[in-house]
Amino acid sequence: MPPKSQFIREDGLYHSFCGLVSVGWLYQKIKDSFFLILGTHTCAHLLQNTLGVMIFARPRFAVSLLEEADLSSAQPDISGQIAEIKREHNPSVIFLLSSCTPEVMKVEFEGLAHTLSTPELPVLFVPASGLDFTFAQSEDSVLQALLPFCPVAPPEDKRVVFLGSVNDAVAEDFAMEAARLGIPVAGFLPASHFSELPPIGPGTIIAPLQPFLPKVASQLRNDRNCTILSSLFPFGPDGCRAFWEDLAAEFGIKVDLAEREAAAWERITSHTELLRGKKVFFASDTLMELPLARFLRACGAEIVECSTPAINRRFHSRELERLEGVPLVEQPNFDRQLRDIATHQPDLIISNMITTNPLVGKGLVAKWGTEFAFMPIHGWAGVNILATTFTKALRRHAILDPLGSDPVWTMGLMPSAPGDVIPLQEL
Ligand code: SF4
Repeated sequence: MPPKSQFIREDGLYHSFCGLVSVGWLYQKIKDSFFLILGTHTCAHLLQNTLGVMIFARPRFAVSLLEEADLSSAQPDISGQIAEIKREHNPSVIFLLSSCTPEVMKVEFEGLAHTLSTPELPVLFVPASGLDFTFAQSEDSVLQALLPFCPVAPPEDKRVVFLGSVNDAVAEDFAMEAARLGIPVAGFLPASHFSELPPIGPGTIIAPLQPFLPKVASQLRNDRNCTILSSLFPFGPDGCRAFWEDLAAEFGIKVDLAEREAAAWERITSHTELLRGKKVFFASDTLMELPLARFLRACGAEIVECSTPAINRRFHSRELERLEGVPLVEQPNFDRQLRDIATHQPDLIISNMITTNPLVGKGLVAKWGTEFAFMPIHGWAGVNILATTFTKALRRHAILDPLGSDPVWTMGLMPSAPGDVIPLQEL
């Protein structure tokens, strides 16, 4: 366990992007689901623009708009919308997401979901409002809501369940790698369909693929008495080696992936040569900052600061060990960060949605951290994409764009699922 003084908490904005955005990848991942947000025109506008929804696309998510009249009623009536969703989309599960306004109005979501739920069509409450949740954290809420529907596995059923939403190709890659190492797989949480949720019990090893799921991991440990793998997250050659060696060890399988790791580093030499000695400042808010900073440090970069909305000592313990000596900050104060950026003059800033363009405007090389959440950077197959995502900004700044304007995501161009890479639009 790292020493308590290893990171500090400041008083900055918790995050810059609303938790509702995770709907964009979760509705694609859970193919028989529907996501209903009880919200306002602001929420509808956010989803419409970030997810680039076409009016004829019939996406499996919607916003039930609160109107002025709803402000005076104790509980909004959305039974009509539920019936319509059932009729039009025939989902196996409906997720009912909270948003800022009904939370301020004290809508009792748990009770509302309960009254709308039937054995044939569960309606599950998912806390996701932008008041409390970053866009990645609401996946944690969705998985917590799904957990009661995972069958209980008997103690003798010792298999791995991979935790976290990854696209189908990445999931297949992990299943194949596990088979190669002789690790039995029970499934993925979330699964591609509601009816395919994996059995979880005292013999289950939960292998987290995403660093933003500490709450569901804790709930799994408490409710199902299963083991949560303590390892690095499977990003980069160093992360993948530790992840698979530690996971195999849970099954009594001894593997040495030193050669595999060395070969993976070898394949990205052109990137590590560029990253070595570069000063990198993490000021983003995706909750992926710790493993990304650890990977860059292993590439030879100097991490000037690694800020992130929240750090969980237990869930992130192995990443924290590798970041010993790096200044780590929860909820960073942006004014202080700007002063430190001016002092240290980092070569690359991994920034959030609010700050990327102002930083670029100041001539700094800034990359929007959210991009990493949508790239297939997991596992051995993702190593090159991970390294390229960092070096692309540096190369463009050095060679192609003397003004330092790195391509950034623009609203309406958000990929539709984790790992779906779409062309970037340059400013
Ligand atoms: S939930 Fe809150 S932060 Fe998110 S879009 Fe709606 S109003 Fe904005």
